[in-house]
Amino acid sequence: MEQRVEEGRLLMGPGPSNVSPRLLRAMSRPLVGHLDPEFLKIMNEIQDLLRSVFQTSNSLTLPLSGTGSSGMEASVVNFVEEGDSVLVGANGVFGQRIAEMVRRNGGVCTVVSAPWGEPLSEKSMLEAAEKCQPGIIAVVHAETSTGVLQPLEPIREICDRFEALFLVDTVTSLGGHPVDVDSKKIDICYSGTQKCLSCPPGLAPVTFSPRAEAKLKNRATPCRSWYLDLNLIGSYWGEERVYHHTAPISMNYALREALKMIVEEGLEQRFNRHRQNHQALVAGVEALGMKMHVDPNYRLWSLNTVRIPDGVDDAQVRSQLLSQFNLEIGGGLGELQGKVWRVGLMGESSRTQNVLFFLLALETCLRTQGFQCPQGAGVQAAAARYTSSLS
Ligand code: PLP
Repeated sequence: MEQRVEEGRLLMGPGPSNVSPRLLRAMSRPLVGHLDPEFLKIMNEIQDLLRSVFQTSNSLTLPLSGTGSSGMEASVVNFVEEGDSVLVGANGVFGQRIAEMVRRNGGVCTVVSAPWGEPLSEKSMLEAAEKCQPGIIAVVHAETSTGVLQPLEPIREICDRFEALFLVDTVTSLGGHPVDVDSKKIDICYSGTQKCLSCPPGLAPVTFSPRAEAKLKNRATPCRSWYLDLNLIGSYWGEERVYHHTAPISMNYALREALKMIVEEGLEQRFNRHRQNHQALVAGVEALGMKMHVDPNYRLWSLNTVRIPDGVDDAQVRSQLLSQFNLEIGGGLGELQGKVWRVGLMGESSRTQNVLFFLLALETCLRTQGFQCPQGAGVQAAAARYTSSLS
């Protein structure tokens, strides 16, 4: 099994995604100190690149040391004080996680849920906001546990009505779907490196609007977390360069390279690539006789939830994909455990050849399970969909 890992697994699960050799080379550069003038230049470069990818001019934009959850935790612990009212849209695991963090930080949390596989209802969000008068409204843009893309505009409008800060989790969308921090007027935004940015897990890019920064500066009490205190971290990433904690140098090398690759590819180009490969995958899955879990209007391009056909053993298929094809996909989480497969097409992993290989491999596994599907239909339909999307 270790040998297969050395050969390079194809990572088509919910993250991490595959990483380019160029990025791995960047990580092996000699270390410098976290206050070395050369590293300070790299920090500035990373911040500029992050602004391009987040599509923002926010000055407080930086990568936190820690995985996506550290971005989530920082977004809560820095902005929620004891007794603050926060409205959280939770239609999957990650919305629920935000709500849990709000409660742990002394916030008064109102949760609006939706069936797993559907977006939040604007009406329910508005009604809840009228009741709880929130200072912050939080949603997950790309819910990795369900495959749903949450439309942001209607939630933004609710924020405007209540003058609430808009908090958005973009862990599975940044670099794969347009996030548009400035034009969507997102105030508090975090992501993770290991999804559509195609970098190893370990950093959480974050960005905060001037309004959010003002709230940060005017806190009545100090942030309860010292490690995630954005006022302190901002002094290291800002002009003062005050030591806070030792930055993970090699991870920052990796992130800089990943962001450079995104800017070189071009954001529009990259979004198109993610969309086209997603559409090809859907065509292939449906041609094999399976169904997608999410309505076409709300499907993520980066994470596809495919309903597991009756009589097919979830764990056996995933294990055969891994052992025979060196290919990872994810199982369902929470309510969707055993009901869906989660097929990631993120960053480097979002390639047409990966879609075709996956469909071939999946067909083989389905046949092993006795599931009847038209031979080669998945690959054919995906290829046809892909070529038509080019014209
Ligand atoms: N938010 C979303 C939408 C996620 O998909 C994830 C991880 O999959 C997280 C937050 C947490 O990120 P991490 O596992 O990197 O801490």
